[in-house]
Amino acid sequence: MPTNKNRKKIKWFNDGVEAFVRARPDAPRLYCCPICIRGFDNPNELTFEDVPPQSVGGKPLVLTCPNCNHWSGRLLDTHIRTGCDLHEFAEGKRDTRIKLIHSGDTITAKALLAQGQIQITGLPENSDPKAHRSLFEKLDKVASKGLKSWELSLEFIEFKRHNPWREAVGWLRVAYLYTFAALGYNFIMRPELNIIREQFQRPDDRIAPQAMQSIRSPSTDNGLSFLYSPPELRSIVVRLGVNLFFFPAFVESSKLVDSSTLYERIASYLSLGQKLTISGTHIDLPKRPQFAFDYLPRSIFNHVAAGGTIRVDMGN
Ligand SMILES: [Zn+2]
Repeated sequence: MPTNKNRKKIKWFNDGVEAFVRARPDAPRLYCCPICIRGFDNPNELTFEDVPPQSVGGKPLVLTCPNCNHWSGRLLDTHIRTGCDLHEFAEGKRDTRIKLIHSGDTITAKALLAQGQIQITGLPENSDPKAHRSLFEKLDKVASKGLKSWELSLEFIEFKRHNPWREAVGWLRVAYLYTFAALGYNFIMRPELNIIREQFQRPDDRIAPQAMQSIRSPSTDNGLSFLYSPPELRSIVVRLGVNLFFFPAFVESSKLVDSSTLYERIASYLSLGQKLTISGTHIDLPKRPQFAFDYLPRSIFNHVAAGGTIRVDMGN
């Protein structure tokens, strides 16, 4: 008996094969992994990918190959999670484990940011009791004598390995998979998007930094937008919190501007150092594969026309 999960996998697989064939009528009937563009002829060779990662509340959105799925989990997803932890710590919503070092003693403690100050609480059960006692005695002495010169080092254990660039590439991958689920193969298989996939293959190189931008005011209004202003920056933008991810626009608008040079235009806009306001029509993020540009290319534009307008300020 096939389970619900299996039935869902077979449906997503068949929908993907059909979308791929509609996008590339001469290609073999295969499911094409959106990350590595390799073809698979059996649903069992594919995995459900959580978008965003499960560790930050994501749910299955598309099928990717196990290689791409696990590779991302290992190299990018952990930085997405620690990035969220760091953000919550900075907002005073959670504490974090630290190593506290003072005149030869090292102990484990926890730190919390509250009203611009850092509150430190010792964790005697996680420290050498002698070092714990000695460190706090010395600190008491510092306080009672009002000593002016003393040193205390903090080491943020959980954030030590955090790599903000890999976190950004991880979110770019999330945004790319949202565009794949919403718009399909016709959208992602254009040569203009090779640079994005190359960025995933070489996560430590700065290949497409212009694809990732941030906005001034945080918002919970996540979504996918068809950006139309300024017209030179026509693109598909995925908005996730304060982050915007830019992807070259589809045919309809690439007649007006050359999609392959979008990132160069973004770079030259930003080099002007001015506040940049962008506007576009907005649709909700997909919750399952829809492949709109493969199945019903016109429907997405009706959908977009019915959506609201977004307007955000970019830059620092
Ligand atoms: Zn793959």
